[in-house]
Amino acid sequence: MNIPTVNDSSEDNIEPTYGPRRDSRSGPQNSATSDTTAADPEQNPEGPPTKVCPKCSVQNQTIGKFCPNCGAPYNAQRLRAKVNKRVFLIVAAALIVLIAGTGVVLSIQHTNQVNAEQAAAATASEAEKKRESEAAEAEKKRESEAAAAAARATAAKQAADASKRKQRNAIVTALEDSVLKDAQERVTTGRLTGPITLASCTPLGGGSSDDLTAITGTFQCIAVNKTNPDGSSSGYRFSATVNWNDTSYTWHLGS
Ligand SMILES: [Zn+2]
Repeated sequence: MNIPTVNDSSEDNIEPTYGPRRDSRSGPQNSATSDTTAADPEQNPEGPPTKVCPKCSVQNQTIGKFCPNCGAPYNAQRLRAKVNKRVFLIVAAALIVLIAGTGVVLSIQHTNQVNAEQAAAATASEAEKKRESEAAEAEKKRESEAAAAAARATAAKQAADASKRKQRNAIVTALEDSVLKDAQERVTTGRLTGPITLASCTPLGGGSSDDLTAITGTFQCIAVNKTNPDGSSSGYRFSATVNWNDTSYTWHLGS
């Protein structure tokens, strides 16, 4: 079986096929117009260039792109590109992992922070409620004590007022005694007609012994010497003025 190999004229064959066909295809046009073509091994008219395998270091005179010894590509850039691509993929994957990991860590930190803030807020809220409750309790106690104090003050004032009224009634009674004695003396001396049985004094001109703010009070008194058939009394009229502050009083016969 005879398989055509190296002499195959197919352009896809990258095995060494240096020959006149390829040379003639390149044409003199390229080599004549540019000296950069001199650097191109495939355009070198002197023969296949000497290449050193980057992998196994074996030298070969070939225009092939791969080392005939080990098959490694002469084009180191390809290898580098491959390596670079792999490095890039590794770095990208590492970055993705790093970013995702950072995201997870940040998310956990955020969650922890939120939980801590919520716990702190709950604690603060409870403390605030407790303070408010205590303040309300204290306010209630103050109000209760103030009410009790006010009640005590009212009771004390009522007691004082009652005492004052009792004292005033005693003054009026003393006034009536004085008027009675005065009238009876006047009967004795013949200036009034007796018998004078009693004297009664009542507040005059809106004055009242109940009005504790008044300093003085005016009274109209009657020294009774006659009881009428209808039960009313008649007698001699006296007028009197009482000074509540110093418990003194004056009176005179007549209006
Ligand atoms: Zn090699």
